[in-house]
Formats: sequence, C-alpha cells, structure tokens
Amino acid sequence: MRYILILLLIFTSAAHAAGPEKIATYDRKTWPEAIDSNAAFDRASAFEGYHFLDVLSAVDTGSAETIRAFTGVKEPDMASVKRWVRFARGELVKNFNAAQRQDAKGWGGGSKIDSAETYLALMRPHYLTLPPEYDQWKERSRKFHTRYVYEQLRLAALFPRITSEILKLDQSERNGFELNDKQFILTFDDGPSPNGVTGKMISELNSRNLKAAFFLLGERLETLPPEKAQALYAGHYVGSHGYTHKAHPRYAQWQSSIDRTHALISAVFSTPSNRIGFRPPYGQRTPEMIAHLRTVHHSLVALWNIDSQDWNRKIGPDQLSDRVTTLILLWRKGIILFHDMYPKSIEAVGALHDFSREANIEFVDPG
Ligand SMILES: [Zn+2]
Repeated sequence: MRYILILLLIFTSAAHAAGPEKIATYDRKTWPEAIDSNAAFDRASAFEGYHFLDVLSAVDTGSAETIRAFTGVKEPDMASVKRWVRFARGELVKNFNAAQRQDAKGWGGGSKIDSAETYLALMRPHYLTLPPEYDQWKERSRKFHTRYVYEQLRLAALFPRITSEILKLDQSERNGFELNDKQFILTFDDGPSPNGVTGKMISELNSRNLKAAFFLLGERLETLPPEKAQALYAGHYVGSHGYTHKAHPRYAQWQSSIDRTHALISAVFSTPSNRIGFRPPYGQRTPEMIAHLRTVHHSLVALWNIDSQDWNRKIGPDQLSDRVTTLILLWRKGIILFHDMYPKSIEAVGALHDFSREANIEFVDPG
C-alpha cells in the first residue's frame, strides 16, 4: 500500500514539528539545472509535475476510507475530492502539452498527450535515468509534493462545508487558472498594514516595474486619510477583503461588510463598483455572497491558486520564494497570494521577479 508510505512520510514530518515541514517547503538549490530559458523552465516544470502526479496517483482518491485516513477529515466530501483530482490531472496534462509545444527538440518525446497516465509513462524513463546529482532534488521534491497533495486533498475533502480556494463555487469566480501559460498575478491581502510594510512592498514593486493587486480591509483603509491611501496604492489594483477579517459565512454582518468596503474603495480610489473584486477572508464564501456581489455590485469573487503561506512564522524568505517558484513550475499560471505585512514577503517577491526574468514568465498587470 503506497499510500501508507505517504502517510508515514507526512506524519513523521509533522511529528517532528521542526517547523517548515508542517507546510510544503523546498530547497530549489537541489535542482541542479539553471532555469534560465523557456526550455529549462519546461523541463523543470515537467519534472515537478511528474512528482505531483506520481504522489497523487498513489493515493486511492476514490475511497472515502483512504481520504479520511490521508487527510484526517472525518466526513470527506468525495464529490469535491473527485472534482479536484480530475481538475488537477487535467491541468497537468495541459501543462505537459504546453511544455512540449515550446520545445522544438521535444526531450519529452514531443508528443501531445491526453491523460495523466501517459504523462507518468512518458516521464518515468527520463526520471529514472537522471544522474546522481539529482538525488537530493528527488528526495526534496517528493517530500514537497507529498505534503502539498495532502494540503490540497484536505481542502477538497472539506469543500463545500468549508469553502476555500480549492474549487470554484460558481463559474464567475476567478482563481488564476483562467490565465495563459506562464502568466501570473501578484496579490497581497490584509492591508494597509499598520507596520508600514505596505509602503515598502509597493516601493519594491515600483522599483521593479511590477503591478500588483491589493485586497484591503475596510477598517484598515479607514485609518488612512484618502489622499494618503491614493498616493500609497497609485498604479496598483485595489480590491476588497471585506470590512473586517472574519470568515464571512459565519458572520451575520457579511452583507454590510461587503457593501461598506465597496463604498469606501469607490470613494477613495474612484473605482467603479463592478471593478472591485471581493477576496473573501480565508477564501470562505457562500452562493448568497456571490449572488449579492453579482446583483448589487456587478462584481466577482477573486480567489487564488498559489498560496505562499507567508503567514507561517517558521518559513524564511528563501523557503517562501522556493515554495512559490515550485508552484509556479507546477501550475504554470496563476494568482499568487501574499500578505503585505511581512518584510520577508518583500524579499521573496524580489527573488521571484529575478526568477521570472530568467525563466521568461510574466507577472501581468491585474488592473
Ligand atoms: Zn486575509
């Protein structure tokens, strides 16, 4: 039973609780190739995808008993698990084909594939014949994807009882999978930060000519004079994170939280209501909220698909950018979630921008 091995891996690392192991982190230096061209990006991407699919296919995701044991969720929602597994496998197949398309030499065989099984079968000989200098990467990457698949399956097992970014509740929602291959959007939640990190983050972004999206809390925006807020966010996209940082499905005042924040942002930044995306705290929302946004504000729920987990005190800037880089290689497109209250996130964004120039990926203007 391969999934028992995976469980052991997870629980051994969790039991040590040494810190970073509790979330999926990485050491990108273990990948011995420079990722400095389209072809190098595609190769690294296909190998990360291989590990992800290999780990995922070792879990019997059709069995509630397995999912219960694997995720620790007592009553896993098997329809959501099935939906996410199908979606994730489909994305990886698309990514494999995108990698093949851009590489004239076709190191992966050059063929277009239509299933995750073919992906694994085509990549396996390449994987197995990697020279010994890839051994450390193999170990680190497998650990990462084991933990990451656990994180994702757990969110899927809880959905929609506890909603999150893992799946869409409505087709109108945006989570980053709508973008083109190698396109990404940087987003920052919970600001404006009381510790001045927002200003430093925006200076860093501006010095690198990057445009990002900031999802603000109404109650924090109110602490700034409007002229100051306008100057702070000039050139960047501003959306709503609600008035206060509460899980809105269990918050009786959710409607006024959304309405007040839309009104505030409209007043301060002269943004039309339909241009103000709502990013629900913790990604938790209900069909009523989606309907309310649509009918009253003509606006949408704005989620993400790459969670940096920068809130975790135990990860430093290098591990942060390594985790995000790995998820960039895995998904090849997406909306990246950061918070503008941690100085380490500024460093990580700098490292990611340097990476993007080498690897020829694009941070697009969300505005
Ligand atoms: Zn938040």
